[in-house]
Amino acid sequence: MSDDLMAVYNRAPIEVERGEGVWLEARDGRRYLDCVAGIATNSLGHAHPKLVAALTAQARKLWHVSNIFRIPGQEELAHRLTEASFAEVVFFGNSGSEAIECALKTARRYHVANGAPERIEVIGFSGSFHGRTYAAINASGNPAYLEGFGPRLPGYVQLSVDDTAAIEAAIRRPSAAAVIVEPVQGEGGARALGEDWLRRVRALCDETGTLLIFDEVQCGMGRTGRLFAHQWFDGLAPDIMAVAKALGGGFPVGACLATRDAAKGMVAGVHGSTFGGNPLAMAVAIAAFDELAKEETLAHARTIGARLAEGLRRIAAAYPDIVVDIRGKGMLIGVKLVPNNREMMAAARDQQLLVAGGGENCIRLLPPLTMTADEADEALRRLEATFAAARARLAAAA
Ligand code: PMP
Repeated sequence: MSDDLMAVYNRAPIEVERGEGVWLEARDGRRYLDCVAGIATNSLGHAHPKLVAALTAQARKLWHVSNIFRIPGQEELAHRLTEASFAEVVFFGNSGSEAIECALKTARRYHVANGAPERIEVIGFSGSFHGRTYAAINASGNPAYLEGFGPRLPGYVQLSVDDTAAIEAAIRRPSAAAVIVEPVQGEGGARALGEDWLRRVRALCDETGTLLIFDEVQCGMGRTGRLFAHQWFDGLAPDIMAVAKALGGGFPVGACLATRDAAKGMVAGVHGSTFGGNPLAMAVAIAAFDELAKEETLAHARTIGARLAEGLRRIAAAYPDIVVDIRGKGMLIGVKLVPNNREMMAAARDQQLLVAGGGENCIRLLPPLTMTADEADEALRRLEATFAAARARLAAAA
């Protein structure tokens, strides 16, 4: 490992060199079946020919001009996103955290524009993850990410998703600005919130004038088998939504989407980004959008997601000593384990299978949505082999 890098990551000891589809190749020539996909980002697989073509064509034309000028690609992608969602306006940044930052700023400015600057409180949930900026770590409230960075920012509270009374009380407070929630919690361990829960929070927000922010950075862009996870529920929509990750298919880009009303405080000069929405990012994201938003891509994700879930339930039944629960939605899948999840991720690497970690001792499977049925079956075989090896090790240690 290099001493020249800030030591903030616990990296797997694989030097990745190239990728194609669901396969990643390391420098030593080993091929891994990639169910991490850049943390739910390379949703069209590695080196998708249409994304490579879009990137290289744009690279020859124009990379960056800043937002001092009109950028046709931004207008094009924003139009696609608003056509496909509740949203009417879009701000482009470069990451999920920046999309969240814009969402939170948009919510606070909305109340200022309404003459209610006292409405600053952002209501978030334990087990959530919204990114690593100061605002994002305060919105998720995870002590592990907040510790050592000075005082917590004012105006953020976290509640348990199960505490309906506290949620109602918080939304009814005169200081409430917004609720921020992942419709399917990703990093927290692939926990899908129920329709009733989401509709109840939506109704309370409507009643009190509190804005509802969905963080679809991980669960959006087709990951659950709908373009946006909340679109599983008819007529349910947020006021503001953050997306990133698969939006660029692996190229860094994020977006904050909002209704025109929710964004009314975001006037010239109040927010910005030098790189946000640059021509390179837009060219790739438009190409990615056109693939991800296709009904056949989404239907395929639903089919493969169901195949993986079914196979995992079968494996779970055979390995009750290893697997506690299968959860998630579509191709955002969590496997809650008895043995330590980090150790199991390493054990999976021995089978040349890459899986992500997650909260509540889960491993997550977040493969490209383009994974074939054969590749899904191969992932299941490798996971089962991982569990068989773990069982043998546990028996030998006993
Ligand atoms: N929100 C969610 C739901 C996420 O999963 C992540 C990243 N894992 C983020 C926000 C932050 O995104 P980024 O790392 O691109 O800043």
